[in-house]
Amino acid sequence: MTGSGDQQSLFFDPEAVPSKPPGQLPVDMRVLITVKAAPNPSQSYGETVCVAGIRIDEPQVSWVRLYPINFRALADDKQFRKYDVVRLRARPSSKDPRPESFRPDLGTVRTEERLKAWPARRRFVVDLVNKSMCQVLQDVRDGRQDAVASLAAIRPRQVDKVVIKPHLGWNRDEQAKIDAYMQQQTLDETGPRTALKAPAFRGWYRYRCQAPDCRGHEQGIYDWEFVALQWRLRRDGHSDAEIEAELRTKFEKMMCGTDRDTIFYVGNQQKHRQTFMVLGVFYPPC
Ligand SMILES: [Zn+2]
Repeated sequence: MTGSGDQQSLFFDPEAVPSKPPGQLPVDMRVLITVKAAPNPSQSYGETVCVAGIRIDEPQVSWVRLYPINFRALADDKQFRKYDVVRLRARPSSKDPRPESFRPDLGTVRTEERLKAWPARRRFVVDLVNKSMCQVLQDVRDGRQDAVASLAAIRPRQVDKVVIKPHLGWNRDEQAKIDAYMQQQTLDETGPRTALKAPAFRGWYRYRCQAPDCRGHEQGIYDWEFVALQWRLRRDGHSDAEIEAELRTKFEKMMCGTDRDTIFYVGNQQKHRQTFMVLGVFYPPC
């Protein structure tokens, strides 16, 4: 995790924040999907997923957040995976002033290819690595919400640990959304609606960033894989203790091992701008 042999593009400013086009006009974009966050309860869709990626159709790469995406309703051929390159049309989000936020037109999503190898992905990711998490937070404190980064790539100096605690279930707000969704069954639906279940565990990364005076960060893990791994292990009959151990093995020992050049994809909450979460991890071998 010491390595930083990044060869960023000449004249490229990783701290530059994309500016949205004026109005709500749709934009055609090509995006390397890097983030698929854990599903969240939603009143309209049952669950929504925040997807983010790197726009690679412009001279400078930049972050884009695509929301809402209802993965349950996406037809199979439009279900995309991390590190797929997709083409789609999206409009600047009218409800979310953060500069990277767009509302995708899901009917236009076409998957072009999948970048299988770390080096092919790395070429786009390194251009977006920020100086430090401390600096990103400072910018949020100093700037307007529509002008500062709400997505970033952070190379931790030291990952202290993954904190894992039992998930205490959905909060009242989240449960109310699930209940409302369950009561709205429409006639054209083929099967009964199912309620989004809370996973067994929640997790947080405790780490220090590259700022010399960093006093440490603790950020919730909202990576789809953190939840998917739990469901997979549960289905295979593993106990809670085994699931917890496996989460630690994968998210701490493997992804943040000394043989990996670990980079966190982080994003903030629209309503709590200073609360950043780890939405995914980039962990190529050093
Ligand atoms: Zn820091």
